[in-house]
Amino acid sequence: MKTYKRILYQTVEPGIVKITLNRPEKRNAEDPLMLEEMQDAFIEADIDDDVRVIIFAGAGKDFSAGHDMSYGQSGSDRSPAPEGTIMRRYMDTKMTGVERTLRSEDHHFRYQAYAMRNVSKPTIAMVQGNCLAGGWMNASMCDLIVASEDAKFGDPVVRMGPAGLELLFHPYDVGFRKAKEMLWTGDPLNAQDALRVGLVCKVVPREKLEEETMNLARRIAMNMPVAVSLTKRAINFAWEASGQKLAMEYHFLIHQLSHASDESARIRETRAKALEKGGVKEWLKARDGQFKAGGSY
Ligand code: ZN
Repeated sequence: MKTYKRILYQTVEPGIVKITLNRPEKRNAEDPLMLEEMQDAFIEADIDDDVRVIIFAGAGKDFSAGHDMSYGQSGSDRSPAPEGTIMRRYMDTKMTGVERTLRSEDHHFRYQAYAMRNVSKPTIAMVQGNCLAGGWMNASMCDLIVASEDAKFGDPVVRMGPAGLELLFHPYDVGFRKAKEMLWTGDPLNAQDALRVGLVCKVVPREKLEEETMNLARRIAMNMPVAVSLTKRAINFAWEASGQKLAMEYHFLIHQLSHASDESARIRETRAKALEKGGVKEWLKARDGQFKAGGSY
């Protein structure tokens, strides 16, 4: 069995694999290496004959705080991505600006998210605590989501320059109007509201999260695997045929456009300086300062 640096890959019982984001000390922030390992692990589980259901989890208090901000946006800031990762390799090319951002985000976020979404086997995200931005995007790539009562789903990237994350999954998760409200305010949705809008299939007490997710996984794993897999294919196709895929592709370019705006360039500059001065903490302080009365935005 493969071993990874940023995630755990475990067969929890016959037929059920659990892929766990394992950087609890960083609230499972997804750095470039974690994103690559995640994609690899999903494909690994998909190929393995013995796997029937994949559970996607986060170690510790939070599911995931999203993409690791200390790497900035797709290698355009100064902090180098881990050696050998695709993002790092893009940084070492002669590419600059929009071309580099577009191409590295293609690999890092678009292909990675689609790879998770398109595995042939059923996937269940098991979510507790914060499930923010890139964390939510990846949970959203799973077929089902089970949440604990303290779960919060949100995409606050409007405070950092981009027009939403790389992929437009939000309206399909929470409804079109709610998606606008969430993306404009950056405010998260709590577990009960997530249940009401159909983003999650059940909400359970924190101490029952593991058990309830396993029960759901077992229910699915006992059924005919080919029928389960083909059902997934049909429903994903119906979703895509209703416009989801086109909307995601269109939004990916909109997202790139927002990276290329003057506004984004200004906040990127602020971020690079703050990261250099005092890491992510300093950047969060600088970012929030922008929105206070008298801030520059
Ligand atoms: Zn981006």
